[in-house]
Amino acid sequence: EFKSAPRPSVEKLLPQVKNIIAVSSGKGGVGKSTVAANLAIALAKLGYKVGLLDTDIFGPSVPKMFGVEDARPNAVEKEGRDLIEPIVKYGVKILSIGFFVDPDTATLWRGGMATSALKQLIADADWGDLDYFVLDTPPGTSDIHLTLLQTLAITGAVIVSTPQKVALADARKGIDMYRNDKVNVPILGLVENMAWFTPAELPENKYYIFGKDGCKNLAKEMGCPLLAQIPIVQSICESGDAGEPAAVNVDSIVGQAFLNLAQAVV
Ligand code: ADP
Repeated sequence: EFKSAPRPSVEKLLPQVKNIIAVSSGKGGVGKSTVAANLAIALAKLGYKVGLLDTDIFGPSVPKMFGVEDARPNAVEKEGRDLIEPIVKYGVKILSIGFFVDPDTATLWRGGMATSALKQLIADADWGDLDYFVLDTPPGTSDIHLTLLQTLAITGAVIVSTPQKVALADARKGIDMYRNDKVNVPILGLVENMAWFTPAELPENKYYIFGKDGCKNLAKEMGCPLLAQIPIVQSICESGDAGEPAAVNVDSIVGQAFLNLAQAVV
């Protein structure tokens, strides 16, 4: 049980955080959580102080990707308040609703419960000084996004999509949500994930399974940068499942790709 304290106003939430980056996708399953996790780790590798908040209350994947499914954050007392202490892994401070409830239970929550849990993870946690606070947002445009936009001064959004037409259409909706007059969050750029597939036995061949340059074209149309093109690589999938995302190994080609993405974001 945490001692309740008056909630600070929106502008005063996380005053020690310099940049808040929302990683979003229109469609689910395009690799948004993978990009958010690897981006956070790559930013930490570059020497920045980084936090990662898994805001996907109904499908949290950050604990599994970081190999900390069984972690249970402690409470620390700071200035008379009990604060949740984020779990630290690969140099990144992380919190997820997955640390506190069985995701199967959360799926039965009403919207209000989800948003108040999310607010607690933001305002009642000991995030401390951060250069980058990365938000892994749920797919689509939901109540959770509204809460994030109303609660945090988001610096910019990174939109993840595959080059497939249905994914691009949803990515466009995501961009429009952030660019809405009432929201006005800058789009830092697009990440084209699953851009192509290269089989191990044919390293020179690129197979554009989901189409070619879809995100490049969308970036041009929407007037925002294309930050990275990440291929379909078995190690990305396997390393995520194994709790050690590809960016942990900066010497690998994929690790380097995420390091380049981090450099494009800063
Ligand atoms: P989202 O957050 O958009 O729902 P995830 O990040 O959970 O998507 O990714 C969906 C699945 O695809 C995961 O199993 C992940 O490991 C895999 N995946 C994501 N990006 C790649 C990639 N570039 N190459 C191979 N597998 C990937």
